Amino acid sequence: MQRKLIFEHSKEGKMGTTLPKCDVPEQKITNLIPKTFLREIRNNLPQVSEPEIVRHYTGLSTLNHHVDKDFYPLGSCTMKYNPKINEAVAGNGQFTEIHPAQLSETTQGSLQIFYEVEKYLCEITGMNAFTLHPTAGSHGELTGVMIIRKYHKSKGNEKKYILIPDSAHGTNPASVMIGGYKAIKVNSTEDGLVDIDDLKLKLNDEVAGFMLTNPNTLGIFEENVLEISKLIHSVDGLMYMDGANMNALLGIVKTVNMGFDITHLNLHKTFSTPHGGGGPGSGPIGVTEKLKKFLPTPTIIKKDDKYKLEYNLPDSIGRIHSYFGNFNVVLKTFVYLKMLGENGLKEVSKNAIINANYIRKSLMNNFQICSPKIPMHECVFSGDIQKGKGAKTLDIAKRLLDYGMHAPTIYFPLIVSEALMIEPTETESKETLDRFIEIMLKIDEEINTNLDIIKNAPQNTPNSRLDEATASRNLDVNYFMK
Ligand SMILES: *Cc1c(COP(=O)(O)O)cnc(C)c1O
Repeated sequence: MQRKLIFEHSKEGKMGTTLPKCDVPEQKITNLIPKTFLREIRNNLPQVSEPEIVRHYTGLSTLNHHVDKDFYPLGSCTMKYNPKINEAVAGNGQFTEIHPAQLSETTQGSLQIFYEVEKYLCEITGMNAFTLHPTAGSHGELTGVMIIRKYHKSKGNEKKYILIPDSAHGTNPASVMIGGYKAIKVNSTEDGLVDIDDLKLKLNDEVAGFMLTNPNTLGIFEENVLEISKLIHSVDGLMYMDGANMNALLGIVKTVNMGFDITHLNLHKTFSTPHGGGGPGSGPIGVTEKLKKFLPTPTIIKKDDKYKLEYNLPDSIGRIHSYFGNFNVVLKTFVYLKMLGENGLKEVSKNAIINANYIRKSLMNNFQICSPKIPMHECVFSGDIQKGKGAKTLDIAKRLLDYGMHAPTIYFPLIVSEALMIEPTETESKETLDRFIEIMLKIDEEINTNLDIIKNAPQNTPNSRLDEATASRNLDVNYFMK
């Protein structure tokens, strides 16, 4: 279905507002404004009425899938339902109308929120100090790698490598490279855990650190994490925790107790900010005591009951962002944490784990599980059986859209062939999970009885299959250039 652009709704003279007639002669206005600020040609804005605008954008909003519409089990993305109270607070004018360049005496409340969120994140992870500056998980990773570099430099060591398991998120090796290290891949065992023997083989004095996601991207808890930490620390390497998805650990395990020296968190995943459209996000990192002095500048300090920004940090890696990070995401995290409290957070993780295991158990007779280990907050299947019958994982994902559900993450992690990575999160009811399971089983049945409908899916969506390669290689979103 082709939708009109807002420009194509335009009719000369239509207006979205009713203003009183201007009682200042136009000549007078143009005389008042310096000529350099006056437009010479009219800007070509669409001219539409208020209902036309509202219907146009409301219409567009219903074309896309979103978590307020239905289930969104995108693995490694934690698409939980985001409570509306977060938005209500974040939209409050007292917050939206302040400017980061204001004197800190006038922004004490906001600085207090930064300060307290840092403290909460320290409590959750056991880290000693946090910075809220990074604006994405990958940005946090890069900040962490810069800190690893500075730590080794400060001891006069030039190390070369950072080890990364082959199950890692793609941003891990990218951040390591940009941070000036070479990434070395560590293999996984059959069960999907870090292969300790392979790790030992690749470990030497040139290793600056190890970047680990735990639970890993197969959803499995790295049960040898203490041994891994010990090995890495034995060559004075630092343990970096990719905690983008902390949904299985809240209130249950602190990353410091697993031996990590640095932890990043994705506030826009675990701590409930709507995401997926490219931002805004927030990827704070926390560090242990010995790395605190390297954190980006400025930090927030509390002195005599006043909050202040501290810029005088001689060992800091410096600035990594203008101002202090994405305040509105931090604010939503603050509201989210306050609403849940300590017990609430623990419930989040318990329910996230139960939901993922419920799906795994309900589908494992039909879809091949990728590891015999009990997963945490997400479960990964291989679509190999279905592929053998002619339906690739991509086809299954497309067919799910016909049933009004978002597809899981597919073809990731890379070490599982035809991977389907399902993360239901804690916010979904048993009824929703049952409906998803029923649809998955129905699709599996359709593969036997009506393969065509799977291969041609989706048919119930505004667009059927897109040419994804062309769409990303020849991206053209500019109306005026045509
Ligand atoms: C999402 C994710 C990241 C990257 O976070 P961004 O905010 O998208 O940069 C890194 N690691 C893991 C495991 C993730 O799930």
